[in-house]
Amino acid sequence: MVDKQFKAESKRLLEMMINSIYTNREIFLRELISNASDAIDKMYYRALTDDKLVFDKDKYYIKVEVDKDSRTLKISDTGIGMTKDELEENLGTIAKSGSLAFKETNEIKDGHDIIGQFGVGFYSAFMVADAVTVVSKSVDGGEAFKWESQGVEGYTIEPHEKEEYGTDVILKLNESTDEDDYDQFLEEYRLKQIIKKYSDFIRYPIKMGEEVVNSMVPIWRKNKSELTDEDYEKFYAEKHYGFDKPIKHIHISVDGAVRYDAILFIPENIPFDYYSKEYEKGLELYSNGVLIMNKCSDLLPDYFSFVKGMVDSEDLSLNISREMLQHDRQLKLIAKNINSKIKKQLQSLLKDERDKYENFYESFGRQLKYGVYSDFGANKEVLQDLLLFYSSTEKKLVTLEEYVSRMPEDQKYIYYASGDTVEKIEKLPQTELVAEKGYEIFYFTDEVDEFAIKMLAAYKEKEFKSVSDGDLGIELEEDQKDVSEEDGKKEVFEFMKDLLSDKVKEVRASKRLKTHPVCLATEGELTIEMEKTLQSMPNSQGVKAEKILEINMNHQVFSALQEAFENDKEKLKLYTNLLYNQALLIEGLPIDDPVEFTNDMCRIMK
Ligand code: ADP
Ligand code: MG
Repeated sequence: MVDKQFKAESKRLLEMMINSIYTNREIFLRELISNASDAIDKMYYRALTDDKLVFDKDKYYIKVEVDKDSRTLKISDTGIGMTKDELEENLGTIAKSGSLAFKETNEIKDGHDIIGQFGVGFYSAFMVADAVTVVSKSVDGGEAFKWESQGVEGYTIEPHEKEEYGTDVILKLNESTDEDDYDQFLEEYRLKQIIKKYSDFIRYPIKMGEEVVNSMVPIWRKNKSELTDEDYEKFYAEKHYGFDKPIKHIHISVDGAVRYDAILFIPENIPFDYYSKEYEKGLELYSNGVLIMNKCSDLLPDYFSFVKGMVDSEDLSLNISREMLQHDRQLKLIAKNINSKIKKQLQSLLKDERDKYENFYESFGRQLKYGVYSDFGANKEVLQDLLLFYSSTEKKLVTLEEYVSRMPEDQKYIYYASGDTVEKIEKLPQTELVAEKGYEIFYFTDEVDEFAIKMLAAYKEKEFKSVSDGDLGIELEEDQKDVSEEDGKKEVFEFMKDLLSDKVKEVRASKRLKTHPVCLATEGELTIEMEKTLQSMPNSQGVKAEKILEINMNHQVFSALQEAFENDKEKLKLYTNLLYNQALLIEGLPIDDPVEFTNDMCRIMK
């Protein structure tokens, strides 16, 4: 019998490992089953070149057994096994992982990533067991051996009886305490649950009693032509990606500079917490059929955070840590690749299945618009052709491309009007001139719309313009030319401006009003809708749009103002306040003093 100490650094690593790295203990089973599967793989490759070994499919399996009385859990395989030397080499020195090349570890700069790099898989057994026994018989050596360890102190190796090639790993589970429940790992239903969760797609049968627990062939390894929409929908439901039926699935198999399979879904309904901080984006990440992460957020940009699904790549290591993953070159390539596939899918949905796209857009369009706006517009090129806005002339959602393609020759800008609802915007006085010209107007009803459009600035060299903008860029007819310069009229406006003092920047004759008496226009970057949005945020510090009160010179209200200016300045003050407050109400802005406003109304009725 050999009695040995773990090497010094192994000992430290083992202590760290047991106490810290894996917070969810259940993954020990994933690690041991993966090792068993690796060992059968090795047997398979050996059989390809060794005539004496025949790889008989039925003979290769993994078995999980529990014995409650002795608190033991046994994971056996019929794989290649380990010789005495291999038991020492592979299980006696933590850093000697058979699967990871050493050169990679030399590239690590800071220490905390080391754990993620080494093959510490086997040692995760010590997270749940105070003693671990490994009985193994290798195809390369006659005798079987038993390796035994109680953790940090060291291990023993001695000859042992075993008939078949392969390895048994036997865990003596810890006693449960108030904080830690180890008894769960003695319950068959719980073990099945864990196997289903992490190891469902291990290629070899995982048996518990006579039952094969895993489904073995993952749907993403199957041929696309053999799969129906129902198969994908079933997978979507089984994986609990959502309760709805997905609008679209994307099945990707890439075999190039980077190799991976992926099944992605575009859901139909918004998860209830989607537009909240609680929502966590991400795809399931598998390494060669074994789940390594539930929600890998690095695989999806925020603007596609609604996408559900999974990615499986054999280029990723099972034991890679979260920190390492973020810097993983392969993962970055996969993410980039996935991003362009999602974009293409959405584009073709928009082109070929407009109804479905609009359905999708209703749920997640806002996220795309946030995407245009965030990161200082870095992604606007990717996203601009996926946007839809309500059109005043088409009475439905249209794309920017559709709008621009039918712009009349003389139209300089892409016009938009903002408000709470389409119905409310339809009634805005500011839209009159643009609408009369026959120009199409986008109706913006989402808070983010104007912010997104400001970030875009232009589409196909056509700039966006609010219908409330001081300068609409529309050539006016001769009789609509600026009449405020005419005798006496200018003084009326200047007087009104003084009465309103800093509430408005200017009072002037309107070029955009046709039938309505009054409206507000704005100058500068900030529009009234943006002011409303910003005001509703914390720390808005009272940002204000620069407002201009516009009066319709052709409306009889103007004659009343002129008459009051000449004969009764008190009356002019009353009219000015009334008109200003009306303009605020039209915009959906609060008026400073509603009581005064209603009293004013009564005064003119007398
Ligand atoms: P990794 O799987 O990343 O190599 P592990 O700590 O999980 O790291 O395993 C260490 C090594 O021990 C493996 O590389 C393998 O050589 C050996 N090993 C572990 N379990 C088995 C098994 N069931 N059969 C044969 N060899 C095994
Ligand atoms: Mg392993």
